[in-house]
Amino acid sequence: MEINGKTRLIGLMGNPVEHTLSPMIHNEMSERMGISSVYVPFKVEEQGVTAAVRGAYELNILGMNVTVPYKNSVMGCLPVLDEAARQIGAVNTLVRMEELGGYKGYNTDMMGLRRQIQEDGISLQGETVVVLGAGGAARAVVYMCLLEETKKIYLLNRTITKAEQIAADMNRIAEQTISFTKNSKEDREQDGKQAVIPMALSDYSSILEENLIVFQATSIGLSPNIDHAILEDTKFYKKIRVGVDLIYNPANTKFMQMITANGGQAYNALKMLLYQGVIAYELWHNKKIPQDIIQDVYAALKRNVYSKDNIVLIGFMGSGKTTVGLRLARELDMDFIDTDAYIEEQAGKKISEIFNEDGEDTFRNLETEVLMNFRNTVKNTVFSTGGGMPLKKENASLLKEIGTVFYLTASNQVIYDRVKNSVNRPLLQRENSYETICELMRERTPSYESVADIVVNTNSNHFKEVVEDIKKELKL
Ligand code: NDP
Repeated sequence: MEINGKTRLIGLMGNPVEHTLSPMIHNEMSERMGISSVYVPFKVEEQGVTAAVRGAYELNILGMNVTVPYKNSVMGCLPVLDEAARQIGAVNTLVRMEELGGYKGYNTDMMGLRRQIQEDGISLQGETVVVLGAGGAARAVVYMCLLEETKKIYLLNRTITKAEQIAADMNRIAEQTISFTKNSKEDREQDGKQAVIPMALSDYSSILEENLIVFQATSIGLSPNIDHAILEDTKFYKKIRVGVDLIYNPANTKFMQMITANGGQAYNALKMLLYQGVIAYELWHNKKIPQDIIQDVYAALKRNVYSKDNIVLIGFMGSGKTTVGLRLARELDMDFIDTDAYIEEQAGKKISEIFNEDGEDTFRNLETEVLMNFRNTVKNTVFSTGGGMPLKKENASLLKEIGTVFYLTASNQVIYDRVKNSVNRPLLQRENSYETICELMRERTPSYESVADIVVNTNSNHFKEVVEDIKKELKL
């Protein structure tokens, strides 16, 4: 992106800020939206918060994010607050208001989580919800639950006084705010309880309801302490229908694993992080971000968080995936997996037999299964994938999650010359195999291109150079 006289600056203030993912999210969005704005982190000391906000305004900075530990204290520096941010008691986004000579404060963390659960098809209306934790994030979760008209919220925390404080604040808000609907009020009146019920974490077994929706909002289970969950009693997990862990690293936390092992559905909250950024960006630029750009930024975010160290090679048969993959793995001291060979080993039969006996859909579903498994378990690996793998949308997005995707291309003629004498390619055991290749390439190229992070041409047949090109792209 060109930086010129019209480029706008956006920043993040907090302390520490060194490990933030926000610059990646916002600069990626500016790149893809073609908007000339740059996002940078600012480490601010506690005594400098007011001066930093004032200085940002005077420097014509378009907007700011605010992170720990200033989400609460920054509120005193703002001429106006969004109603939800005021009620939650935390601001993470400052939007420039020329007419007020300052910034308006929003809480896009809460909005981001709300957008995530709507997208994941989780409806909270009339549900009994459990929130584990009573820190800053839990406040936003409880508020969102009230907005979404839950029936009842159990708020469990190790330090019960913190849960009691949030419950008191939120119950007052729920009583006073007309938009917290009739529905949930009627439910509350019926069983004579308040909307938010504070409890000690150790009292979890006194929750008798089943079919629970649970939000995990403590820091337990966060990488690298991945072997812990805030509660480890299987009886509790049997009562959970849906669980959302606000932690997104690792992708599949112990809390999530225990939910799925007991029959529930589990989600991490990486999309919350994405959407708090998307919503802030939309507020700053007064523009809606199209869904395809959001998907691309999400894929880049996932790569950044989870799988920088895997390399995925896609492309048509004969494009060099196996030769290049083996060589890359050897040179970079990585493992190598050929997904077709892996599936054949798992299924105990040849791919041609799976196609003939069970059909293509079964094979694509097997591909999805193994990719889901790889996503959570495999690191430091080069994957050579089956030529049709990226055609199924679900597989395409899994591939992007697993690693950096390189699309190896070659012309139809080069592909034909490389594979024409091959005896184990069922596609070519027919007449007009050149025409078949041309037709399939036409069909598949858009899918390959949409999954690819980087395209590498292999026409030269010099696979050593192809390996060097890939290493250069990876800055290795
Ligand atoms: P806080 O520090 O404000 O709160 C931490 C919470 O964890 C408290 O409830 C605390 O309990 C509990 N806790 C910490 N250690 C233990 C322990 N050993 N045993 C029991 N409970 C414990 O953090 P936040 O509320 O800001 O964040 C909570 C989590 O949510 C973090 O993991 C954070 O990464 C994640 N998060 C994710 C976001 C996203 O975009 N996906 C956004 C914001 C947060 P106590 O009060 O007793 O100390």
